This record gives sequence, C-alpha cells and structure tokens, in this order.
Amino acid sequence: MSDYTRIMSSINRRELLQLTATLPLAAASATATAAEAATSAARSTGAFDELPVGAVRPEGWLRTQLRKQVDGVTSHLQHLYAPFTSKAWLADEPDPKGSWWPWEVRGYWCDGTLRCGLLLDNQTLIDEASRLIKYTFSNPASDGYLGPTALRAAGDANRWPHAVFFRAAMAWHDSTGDKTIVEGLRRHYLESKFNYIADRATTNVEAMLWTYERTGDERLLTLAEDSWARSQKFLAMSEGSFGLTEQSWLSPGPCGEVHGVTYAELTKIPALLYRATREQRYLSAAIGAQRKIFEHHLLPGGVPSTSEILSTTTARDAHEVCNAIDYPWTWGYLLGATGDGMYGDRIERVTFNGLPGSIRKDFKALQYYSSPNQFICTGHSDHVSSMKGTPLATIKEWRYLQRMSYRPSPGHSVVCCPGNLSRALPNYISRMWMADRRGKGLAATLYGPSRVTHRVGATPTEVEVHADTAYPYADSILFRLKTQREVEFPLHLRVPGWCKAPRISINDADIPLPQIRDGFVTLRRVWRSGDSVRLQLPMTMTTSKWPQDGIAIERGPLVYAYPIEQQWTKVDDERSSPEFPAWDLTPTGAWNYALLPESDQNKPVFQQQSMTGDPWSEPPASITVNARRVRDWQLVTTRVNDEDATMTPRLPDPALLTNSVTGASQPLKLVPYASTELRVTVFPRLKVEPLSS
Ligand SMILES: [Zn+2]
Repeated sequence: MSDYTRIMSSINRRELLQLTATLPLAAASATATAAEAATSAARSTGAFDELPVGAVRPEGWLRTQLRKQVDGVTSHLQHLYAPFTSKAWLADEPDPKGSWWPWEVRGYWCDGTLRCGLLLDNQTLIDEASRLIKYTFSNPASDGYLGPTALRAAGDANRWPHAVFFRAAMAWHDSTGDKTIVEGLRRHYLESKFNYIADRATTNVEAMLWTYERTGDERLLTLAEDSWARSQKFLAMSEGSFGLTEQSWLSPGPCGEVHGVTYAELTKIPALLYRATREQRYLSAAIGAQRKIFEHHLLPGGVPSTSEILSTTTARDAHEVCNAIDYPWTWGYLLGATGDGMYGDRIERVTFNGLPGSIRKDFKALQYYSSPNQFICTGHSDHVSSMKGTPLATIKEWRYLQRMSYRPSPGHSVVCCPGNLSRALPNYISRMWMADRRGKGLAATLYGPSRVTHRVGATPTEVEVHADTAYPYADSILFRLKTQREVEFPLHLRVPGWCKAPRISINDADIPLPQIRDGFVTLRRVWRSGDSVRLQLPMTMTTSKWPQDGIAIERGPLVYAYPIEQQWTKVDDERSSPEFPAWDLTPTGAWNYALLPESDQNKPVFQQQSMTGDPWSEPPASITVNARRVRDWQLVTTRVNDEDATMTPRLPDPALLTNSVTGASQPLKLVPYASTELRVTVFPRLKVEPLSS
C-alpha cells in the first residue's frame, strides 16, 4: 500500500474536501515586464547556487565513468523494454495499466540523458531527450496543462511524474535559454488548477519555485507555500503521519514507517522554500529530516537503508538504487541552502561507494536492492524480503525474487532504478562547483577531476578552473586558474570532515590554513591567469562499527570491501537482450571470514597502486587485513513458491564466534567498495584470537 493510500484511508471525507478546495490564486496582475524586473530580487538567497548544466565538465576518471554510463543503460533503455520503449511525454499515450510509472521512469531517463548530452556535447543524446521536452511544451492544453491526458484524469497524486520530467525541462532552459519552458511552467501551475497536497505531488514545489526564481511571479511562491502548508496539514491528519511532517523531522529518533524515495523527495522541499523566503523554520525542518537519516539510517556505502521503507543498518540491509540518486539530489539542495560542506561529504560517500557498488561496471546491469554484504545475487537470492518478514509464500510476482540480481531491468514491474541511474553522475558532476552569488565567487563543493567556467568578481570576469586530481584515489587536488584579466573573488574549498590535517599551497608556497567554517576554507585574493592552488587532504584508515558487532574498514571517503571470487551466468529474462543480458552472480571463492583483533602486530596495511583509467573496474588501491574462516557461516536456503531460494546470511552470533573460527590466519586484500559486486563489507571481528584452529 502506498503512503498516499494509507493516508487517504485515515482521513474523513469532510476534512478532505476542505483541504482539496482549489487554491484561490492572486489576480493575474503581474505583467511580463514587472516579472522580469522582480526576477533578480526573487532569485536565490542561499549560500551557494547551482550553475547551469554544462558549466562544470567532467575530466579524467569521472569522464570515463560518464561515458560508460551513456554506453550502458542511458543510451539503450529506450530501445530495450517497456515502458522505456513507449511514447510517454512524446505523444498523448494512454496508460495500459492505469499507473503513472511510464511517465515517471521516462522522466528520469529523459532528465539524465539530456544532462549527459550537455556534459559530453553529445548531440544525439541531446536530441533524443529534448524532443520529449519540445513535444510536451509545444502541446499544452487550453488551460496550460502540460502532459498526458491520462495523468490529468487520474486526479490527486498523479502529478508526481511531472516533478520528475520538469527537471529535464529546467536543465534544458538553463543551458539553452529556451523561453517556452518558463512560460509553459508558469501557465501549467497557475492556470491549470490542481491540488498539490497528496503524496509526491507536492514535490512539484521544486518546479514552482524554479519558475518563481526566473519570473518573480509572486503567485508561484504563494502556490508553493500554500501547497506545502496544506500537504503538511493533510499528512498530520493521518494517524502517525508516517514520518512526513515537519514536526516529526524535528523529533529525536529514527524515521517512521516511510517510503525511502518519498522521504528523499519531500524533505528537500522546505530547503527550497527557505531559499525563496528566508524563513528559518523551513530550513530547520529540512535539516532535521536529514539529521534523522544521518543518525539512524545510513548504510556503509552512504545510502540510506531503504527496502522500500527506511530501515535498519545491518550488513544485510539494502538500499534501492533510486536512493543512491535521490538522496544526493536532496543533499545538494541542502548544501546550497546552508553552505555546510558536511552535505558534500555525504554526497561523495554515496557517489564513490554505494552507487557504483550497485551496478555492473559496464553500466549494462544493476540491482534494485544492493547490500553491504552480498554473497550471492541471483534470481532467487532476495534476502531483503526474507529478513523483513515478508511472508515469502505470498510473493506472487516471480520477479520480486530477482531484486538483488544484476539485470538491465532489476526488480519487479516497477523499473524506476534503470531510468533514474541515468541521473546519478550528471547530477554529481554539475554540483562539483557552485556559485557564491553574494560574494561573487566560486565554491569547490564536490571533488574529482573537473573544470568549471563561471563569471566572478565585482566586474564579472570569466574564469576557468581545472581541478587536476585522481581523488578519491589520491589525496591531492591541484586547481589551475585561467582568466583574461586579473580578478578578485573568493574561492571556497570544501574540507571534508574526515580530514584532520588539510594543507594548502598557492603557487607552490604553503600558506597557513585559513579558518574552516561550515566545512569550507575561503581564499580571497586577486587571482591571475596561471595561478594554482594545491589542496592536500591526507587520508587515514579508520574502522566503523555496525549492528551485530560488525565492523568495516574505511579510508578517507572510501569504504573498502572484500571482493568475493565470482561467476557471471547469463539467464533468460524478458527484459534483456544479447547486448544487455540478465545475470546470475554466484560465489566461487570463500567469503566467510572474521577479522583478527587489531594489535601492534596486526594492523590493516594500505597499498597505493598506480592510478588506472577506470578505477571502478581496476581499483588502484587496496587494504590488506588478516582474517580466519568461520565454520558454519554459510548461505541459507529456503523454499519459496516451490523453488529453492539461496540467500546471504546475517553475521554470525558474536557470542559464538571465537569457538567457530577454523583454519590458519590469512591475508585478505580489500578493494574500494565501488569495485565490487559480490562482497563482504561488514565483517565479524574476533575479540581474542583462539590459539587452536
Ligand atoms: Zn528505483
């Protein structure tokens, strides 16, 4: 049952009618000229602003991965299987099944494909994606409504796919200046009357405020604030509110029983309202919502534990791949609104660990659920349903058991993740640099090889900054500036929270470390072409603790895992092709290891190898630890619908561990989580090493 359905069933009819009375809009008094004049006043009041897609370009290993993503699912989904092969957003298609999924997933794909095209100057991708935008914005209904008749007729909660699709239109406008987008969105929201209070329909506030920032039309701000207020009232009327009210976000403890994607999408809205209004209560709510996630729900790879609903953080918990895209998108808004570099740390952790750990390294197959520990990933290995207590005998749809396997279409009938994956790297890359509008400067917000072009200084002057680095596989980033003439501006550099001894040099001369404020240092000076800044971020090995006495090994922004020897086997799947096969992945080597207690004689050893062109396939770093096998820690097999299902087990009982180890101590070579598919990330650890084997 969706959150929306549960909430609807708990609200009486009269209250609902009051809530859904159509919002009276202010008189249409704003002329285009007045709106233009108000635009600058309405534009962002946050700490940092995003740059148009294309202002930041990927270099080095990031460019390699983006190209692989394009050559993988991104440029093939539309030919591979339904509903990607449909004409959703490209014709007024009726939906054969009565759901909004085709428009949601094609919206994700369109957004990601367009951004990939703009970042790589790939006209084919730009044309493929922009034709959906051009069709939709060229065919508004008489009242300005954009999109399919089917969604319009379906009523409340069915404008969620619009919020997804309009992100593509917004990126298209900001990169091309296509004026039909802003005017189309203004008419859609102001003239096509609708209630944005139900479930994810409220996420349309994102596009309302984007349009407000570009038009200054106060009616859009009124609609956005009113939609949010009524949505909150609507949620609060339901019993328990399922963790989606501002009040619940300010309370201590874990999140309620709430859908992971819905939480990610809704909790960004108050941050956007704060940017538009400067009302602190909005920002407090958005920050509180993320704090609950950070304190209670993050898995080692940095993605919230989301087996549909937000969950616990054991080694067998999992994240839906969508949440490796949706949470960083939300945290990017928080980063812009607060100027707090901590959100950059969170985004990097997902992008360097949990995200790539969910995909085949050719980007041609991915999981729906991905776990820190996964020892087998087949069409019959979904341990998440098992551990969550889902009565397996009631699982009627056979595809449900495939949710942990690597397929071009993992999961069940919902195929959100493959479409959404197209957005992952473009979103990261575009937010590596942000504008400091008030200071007329630049902020380096996320790291990796990149270059940015932006106008800075009191007399706007274009500068290009290259970030030369193998980060996160190296700890040094060299920023090189190019400019036609000297210009004074502040350059903000993020200092990750895990780094205890950062160092900075300018033009090869060390400087005293400036004060770190909200995770950033600021270098304000007159910059000249050829100037360089080197940021050194020394990384140290650390151990993180997880439930059931589990531990994981980390170094800087990277989590390390043991890559289990594995075998890929092609399997039949209706949503696959010879070029994009479905896979079963089974272990061919041992994985049942416990780490020895750490001592002066037994410490993890880090080894740096030469940087590779494709670090997600060929990891350039490793950490060696010592371990012993654990007897009786084996895969678990159960019967599901008259078939055997073999699954990853939970960690062994810590109380019995010492007496369960066997064999001699042996070294294990761990590699970055990103480079693994079958893996052990969270290990049992012996408190004392038994003398006998
Ligand atoms: Zn998904």
